[in-house]
Amino acid sequence: KTTGTAVPAVVGADLRVPLVTGERVTYANLDHAASAPCLQEVRDAVDELLPWYASVHRGAGFASQVSTRVYEQARDRVRKFIGAHSSDAVVFTRNTTDALNLLARSVPKGTAVVLFDSEHHAALLPWRGPNVQRIPAPTSSGAAVVALDRALAAAPVGPRLVIVTGASNVTGELWPVAELAKVARRHGARIALDAAQLAPHRPVNARELGVDYVAFSGHKIYAPFGAGVLVGRADWLQQAQPYLVGGGATSKVTDHGDRLGVAWSAVPERHEAGSPNVVGVHALAAACEILSRHWEQTVAHEQELLTRLREGLRTIPGFRELSILTDADKVGVVSFTIPGFDAGFLAAALSAEYGIGVRDGAFCAHVIVGRLVKQNGSHEDRAVRASIGLGTTAEHVDRLVAALRTLVTEGPKWTYTQRDGRWVP
Ligand code: PMP
Repeated sequence: KTTGTAVPAVVGADLRVPLVTGERVTYANLDHAASAPCLQEVRDAVDELLPWYASVHRGAGFASQVSTRVYEQARDRVRKFIGAHSSDAVVFTRNTTDALNLLARSVPKGTAVVLFDSEHHAALLPWRGPNVQRIPAPTSSGAAVVALDRALAAAPVGPRLVIVTGASNVTGELWPVAELAKVARRHGARIALDAAQLAPHRPVNARELGVDYVAFSGHKIYAPFGAGVLVGRADWLQQAQPYLVGGGATSKVTDHGDRLGVAWSAVPERHEAGSPNVVGVHALAAACEILSRHWEQTVAHEQELLTRLREGLRTIPGFRELSILTDADKVGVVSFTIPGFDAGFLAAALSAEYGIGVRDGAFCAHVIVGRLVKQNGSHEDRAVRASIGLGTTAEHVDRLVAALRTLVTEGPKWTYTQRDGRWVP
């Protein structure tokens, strides 16, 4: 069901924040790529569950039964959201980082891993060592496909895994996932999709894309913090040692005097030791369902604002956008440098003088950001990132463009000093 033409409302749209002058203005949150605001309907779903939540699985009480049902239903809702196979395991984690680390711990010994060096640290760092091939970031979608083909042709025989992001957290560019998956398949490799940035902005269908694993986070799809998920083929996960050990991950523990005998549970419980985050998982699943009902409006809203943002930013003297795949479409993420202006200073002044929240730094992708910023002719290794989503309005975008123009052409209204690596007014 589609509910009219409006996009789903977010919580905190009328939040007012103090400026350095003491005046208060509506907060322009242009940092959706870091964490998206909670949807109003997600908050309602959480509110509804709060009186009922209890520990799942092991409780016989009515509230435990309700919570268990809610928790297990969330697996089906996630599976549906990303078009997973009914046989796929749905393991709830803390976030995408946790999900990708779980996958890294679960691959068979000696698995050859291939990835681009433009990946987020969550996808890059769990895979180090002699079996990992890091491909220098390509400059076009076609080059990405060719480079992966070459890398896999040279990969040792045995199990193989490709990791790729759906959308870059640095540039918002969409990676040619379906084409990369075809290449992976041809070389007998599995492919895992880091959907942390893709899932909030575009429908993801694992079956149509041909990917074997999908990871994403609740807090980037408009649910509060604390829950993420890894969905994918169950066999490796089933053969792996439990990710955490403790209650829930075992079906039977026996005392053999000098040692404990432990029978580990099957997936997904095998990797979900401890009391699970029922409320977080419920919020994540609610967000999945709400987004699924509004793709058309969501994509149209974001693309309109993205065009407005890029057209406005291009009129700022010195503005240079970071780009990896120069031919790719993108979601609402724009990272940029302005020669002569430190990224941290710009971000601090935008917040203090204009009530605008953006991000500065290297966005947990130090390798690629360092390279792109240098290509832009900057001596820094940092950029500013503005990212939009369902909480963004045209006024936020226009305010950012006007504020940057003033900062660049007239300078700040306040003086700033650097303290502990941050600029403070
Ligand atoms: N992958 C990408 C592409 C991301 O943008 C992020 C978050 N910035 C992550 C992984 C990690 O997500 P989380 O912090 O929720 O674990």
